[in-house]
Amino acid sequence: MTVNSGDKNNWREKYLNALDEQEQLEKQCAEQQEMLRSALVRVSIAADGQDETLDQIMAKLREQLRGKMNPIDFNRTLAQLESAALEFEKHREQGAQDIQQALVDAAKPLQTFKLSRSVKKELNTYLAQLPQRSKKVRLYPALLQQLARIQQQALSEIEQPKSGLLDKILGGKTSAKMVASEQSDDVSVHLPAMLHESASATPAVPLRPQLQSNHLTDDYSTQIIRVLNQFFTSLENESVIANKVAAMRLRLEQGVSVDNLIPLLDNVRDLVMEAYLAANQAFATYLNNVNQELAEIYMLLGGAVKNTQDERAASRKLQADVMRGMNDLEATATSATDINQLKDTVKSQLGNIRQVIDHYQQTDKTQQLLAEQLQTLGAKIKTMEVEAENNRTILETHRQKALHDPLTELPNREAYNERAAAEVQRWQRYGRPLTIAIFDIDHFKRINDTYGHQAGDRVIKVIGRSIAKRLREVDFFCRYGGEEFVALMPETDSATALDVLETVRDAIANAAFNYKDQPMSITLSVGVTEFKENDVLETAFERADQALYSAKSSGRNRCQLI
Ligand code: GH3
Ligand code: MG
Ligand code: MG
Repeated sequence: MTVNSGDKNNWREKYLNALDEQEQLEKQCAEQQEMLRSALVRVSIAADGQDETLDQIMAKLREQLRGKMNPIDFNRTLAQLESAALEFEKHREQGAQDIQQALVDAAKPLQTFKLSRSVKKELNTYLAQLPQRSKKVRLYPALLQQLARIQQQALSEIEQPKSGLLDKILGGKTSAKMVASEQSDDVSVHLPAMLHESASATPAVPLRPQLQSNHLTDDYSTQIIRVLNQFFTSLENESVIANKVAAMRLRLEQGVSVDNLIPLLDNVRDLVMEAYLAANQAFATYLNNVNQELAEIYMLLGGAVKNTQDERAASRKLQADVMRGMNDLEATATSATDINQLKDTVKSQLGNIRQVIDHYQQTDKTQQLLAEQLQTLGAKIKTMEVEAENNRTILETHRQKALHDPLTELPNREAYNERAAAEVQRWQRYGRPLTIAIFDIDHFKRINDTYGHQAGDRVIKVIGRSIAKRLREVDFFCRYGGEEFVALMPETDSATALDVLETVRDAIANAAFNYKDQPMSITLSVGVTEFKENDVLETAFERADQALYSAKSSGRNRCQLI
């Protein structure tokens, strides 16, 4: 071989640099892939259990990441992931809207009650601000708390008129609660007590003696009529008994006597009970409505709190607790006798709902985080894909560069190593003939010396291409180094190869090369050998090199076969 060692080093360095660059790109690619994998696995674990569709896509994605990635399938899965994430986000927003509607429905019925200005004002402000405030899930507990407060105030006001009325009649000491918690029989006990109290205002005149003549004193009768009229005025508010109250007034106008006083008071007592029960009935209906609203809110939240297995179980327990609470409430409301008990139940009911909302709020945070993570990941994946694609292109370019000689653009020695190994393997497997030829330009030093190194380069390029052009499609031809070239001729025995190579050599020898208008004669020497039994690449190459040496020794410009 006649390759100059300085050039060899030059080539070696270039080649190693190219390899280094390629290695780095491959490393970068692998790192990106790894990042992508771990990010996906992380997010898919976080997403697990949040949404069924997302779960399925994530499972598919994980499977694809574990196996050999088919870019088309992978892209399709990514697109599915993106639209599932959007759908998930939309679903979340719809949940928030539903909750807002449920809150409006829960608060609105209160407007139908006769309420004080301050409560009415708070209720109206509450409803007006609801659309804006209910957009933020974190405000839900505050919203519900306020609703509970308004409800409580409303309830106490609905209760108040009755208490005011009875207090008036019963001497301002008996609370509505007391009456409400007692049965109608007890009321008759209190009413005479009222009379007794009135009578005790004039203790010197006992009741009985005044009734002796079957006539009450005018003074006493006027007092009774005044109190009863006052009493009726309060009762008139209760529309259910308004007619009966009017009839009672007519009776009262006819005067009060000892004979009619007791039946009259009995009637008043019945009327009070009727008014009380009517009011209670309206209250029970109202509570039932509240119950329904609460149940709806709860169901809604129950749907929103769709989480991991554990959370689902906890949510089911909570649902059962709340349902039990609501059933109790309904039972109490139906047999409504104790307003405070009802209020307590509603309060604890609201407490339960608040608990669910707290839970929902937490879940919502997780979901929001997940949605953001999914979006970021989606964007990241896209960027990475573009980068990966760019890297693939760069890698391919580098690979091409690494396998080609920049001067002649012919395959280089590295390409030769790859191809030769493959051809030798085929030759070993199928036993078809394989021939190798080494070309070396004759007296190339002279060309360099006479025309300069640059001219020498040009000659290498022109000669390399001229040879390549004249070889067959099936032949592999490369610049092996310096002014040396190698041809691998598969499916070709030495005689056929020699024919082809002679033609090439002859053509080059007879070509009219010019340099700066000066004719230049260039010849080639070629060493040829066919692969023989027990040959490996190195032994055959060595033989071809010997043949080349022999061609040089025999006068150059010839092909020598061994
Ligand atoms: P021979 O007929 O015996 O081959 O004579 P030669 O002068 O060609 O001798 P040899 O093959 O030993 O020397 C080749 C020379 O080619 C040596 C080196 O200076 C020159 N050479 C090697 N690579 C290049 C190159 O890339 N460009 C140029 N211009 N010259 C090179
Ligand atoms: Mg040489
Ligand atoms: Mg030479």
